[in-house]
Amino acid sequence: MSDTDPIRSTSAACKEPAVIRERGQHEVFCGLTGIIWLHRKMQDAFFLVVGSRTCAHLLQSAAGVMIFAEPRFATAIIEDRDLAGIADANDELDRVVNRLLERRPDIRVLFLVGSCPSEVIKLDLGRAAQRLDARHARKTRVLAYSGSGIETTFTQGEDACLAALVPEMPHASSDAKRLLVVGSLADIVEDQFSRQFQQLGIGQIDYLPGRRASELPAVGPGTRYLLAQPFLAETARLLEARGARRIAAPFPLGEEGSALWFEAAAREFGVHSSVARNALQAGRARARAAVARHKPALQGKRIFFFPDSQLEIPLARMLARELGMQLCEVGTPYLHRIHMADELTLLPEGTQLAEGQDVERQLDRCFASGADLVVCGLGLANPLEARGLATKWSIELVFSPIQGFEQAGDLAELFARPFVRRLKLVA
Ligand code: SF4
Repeated sequence: MSDTDPIRSTSAACKEPAVIRERGQHEVFCGLTGIIWLHRKMQDAFFLVVGSRTCAHLLQSAAGVMIFAEPRFATAIIEDRDLAGIADANDELDRVVNRLLERRPDIRVLFLVGSCPSEVIKLDLGRAAQRLDARHARKTRVLAYSGSGIETTFTQGEDACLAALVPEMPHASSDAKRLLVVGSLADIVEDQFSRQFQQLGIGQIDYLPGRRASELPAVGPGTRYLLAQPFLAETARLLEARGARRIAAPFPLGEEGSALWFEAAAREFGVHSSVARNALQAGRARARAAVARHKPALQGKRIFFFPDSQLEIPLARMLARELGMQLCEVGTPYLHRIHMADELTLLPEGTQLAEGQDVERQLDRCFASGADLVVCGLGLANPLEARGLATKWSIELVFSPIQGFEQAGDLAELFARPFVRRLKLVA
């Protein structure tokens, strides 16, 4: 347990939530986990984790890989070696990559994904990627990023991956405004979003990541980007360095968040507010009805969020405003005040936020809070259930399609499910 005291800061603006800042022991997956949804999204990409047997086990158990399938990720196991063995490790990596690309000529983008064992840290994967890219670039681009548990929590793996793609995006040929949606989305959600943007009159939309990593959209001063995921700080920074501008909005979770997200894009692209209202009306109504079905199970229930995915603040906003849940504490591994500004203003006054983690202290606060439901990582769920608390795995919220009007009811149902299950067990 850390001996650092949590620092409580309350902004002078009284409506701004109080934040507990902690830097102690934390319990989250590493950034390798992002490969599980990224490899499904980018169908011409391959993720080669340069890591240990632990990394291989994490991926195989988290992804439930069948070993006879041809998956789009694998682990090159680097055994322990001293600095004198680094040249051998580079040779070994080159051999693994050459063999892989000979066997799998369909791979268009190969990500070398770094991990945290010391023998991997000694390898310069960025340089290895450049060397291999020079050799294979005519058929396969080779890029590198880190999914190490020392540097990344599980959703930051996506940020690191997309940040590696930004320098590869071509320069836009004109400064005409064009919308870029940033953050990995299930294909079904991407298609729904494209249709909704078309109804708003915004026809030209690009996605990062798209379905093919080798066909990246162009970027330039005309790019207006809308974050679909709240954990993409580095990707956003690099896009802005390429001239892109962020459209400020809450995140598209729930009826209200989705409507505000689309409306922000509509304003940026000069769509009249009455046109936007009409275009969004049907989706809003469907989302409202679907969410309302789960309100009886959730209204008035107390919820506590451990910091895990960075989705916590938008989820808390939706659960409080659309389902009447009471927020005990909303933890987030990292609070990006600019990207979260529109979310923070929507949180109920006095919401207690926590940034970072000191797991022992947070467990104490959780037990004292009288929470009915706790959102946390897998490692904490079992001990909390054993103490009689209902839990929801935060990783499930990243794997499931939850964005947009059509998914709002499913999202509410994910939170109602633990209560329904308990009722069934009691009956
Ligand atoms: Fe474990 Fe580090 Fe490998 Fe992640 S990257 S599985 S934290 S050894």
